[in-house]
Amino acid sequence: MSIPKTLPVWGSGVLAFADQVKQMSQGRLEIKVFGAGELAPALEVFEAVQNGTVEMGHSAAYYWQGKMPAAPFFTSVPFGLNASGMRSWVVAGGGQELWDELYGNYNVKAIPAGNTGLQMGGWFNRPIESVADLKGLKMRIPGLGGLVMRAAGAKPVLVAGGEIYTSLSTGVIDAAEWVGPCHDYILGLHKVAKHYYFPGWQEPGPCLELLIHKKAWDALSEDLKAIVLAAARHLDVDMHAKWLAEDARYLQKIRSETKVELRSFPKDVLSELHRISEQVLLDVSRSDAISKRIYESYRNFEKTFLPFQKVTDWAYNNTLEQLQKD
Ligand code: CA
Repeated sequence: MSIPKTLPVWGSGVLAFADQVKQMSQGRLEIKVFGAGELAPALEVFEAVQNGTVEMGHSAAYYWQGKMPAAPFFTSVPFGLNASGMRSWVVAGGGQELWDELYGNYNVKAIPAGNTGLQMGGWFNRPIESVADLKGLKMRIPGLGGLVMRAAGAKPVLVAGGEIYTSLSTGVIDAAEWVGPCHDYILGLHKVAKHYYFPGWQEPGPCLELLIHKKAWDALSEDLKAIVLAAARHLDVDMHAKWLAEDARYLQKIRSETKVELRSFPKDVLSELHRISEQVLLDVSRSDAISKRIYESYRNFEKTFLPFQKVTDWAYNNTLEQLQKD
């Protein structure tokens, strides 16, 4: 894993997946889980699976964007699909086939395996009142969100989860996004930054991944493959459900226990980040042939999915928000 296995929801979800596979296969398939740094550094899980150092890994595709520019499309892209949209694109919109093709070049198979839901925008040691406040801001932000921040004048850095607290408390960075209230609280980020921003434009519904070394996958019998796929789908939905419940609980905890200021990004900041994001996605699509196909598949899916969202989720959310205000 790219995180310590002691982390609730995330680490415990993966451990429960391993247990479930063992039970479903009546002990014929045992998965031994290792946390970040035990067998491979947090951000080298893909390489460990690719090289066969391990047979399986749990991580997030956007960490591999240096190797495959379009990889972040399989985690989350700025101002892109939310968690249900991501799941629909991957499962039923052609995403999985492209993902198989992309990772197939490295002898790795990927399966969706968890979703954090819409994240928070991150922790800042000073308020962000305008686009100018992003200039020179040293922020921990991975994936395409990092590229967007760089284009907006900030200095994005990629730091593994376990190192965010220290980087922020020692002033190595000025801001950091991690996940949402539950995991941010557990890291103690509320102790080292005062301003907690929303929404998480950079990661609107990140999909986590199970990585499987192709030889190990091919060696499994058909029934064991079916068990792994079923348990992974269970993990995907189960982790998402638990993540939302815990995040809601922890947001309340942050509000009642701390003096953190919960703020929404100003409208003009979001609109500038959105403008830059469109350009960043387009740039990624020009990297190579497969990036172009992944970009087009995702965007085509959005063309039918977003108008549907507009008359369902968004309309309902707007209605609810209005009714709560009244
Ligand atoms: Ca994040």
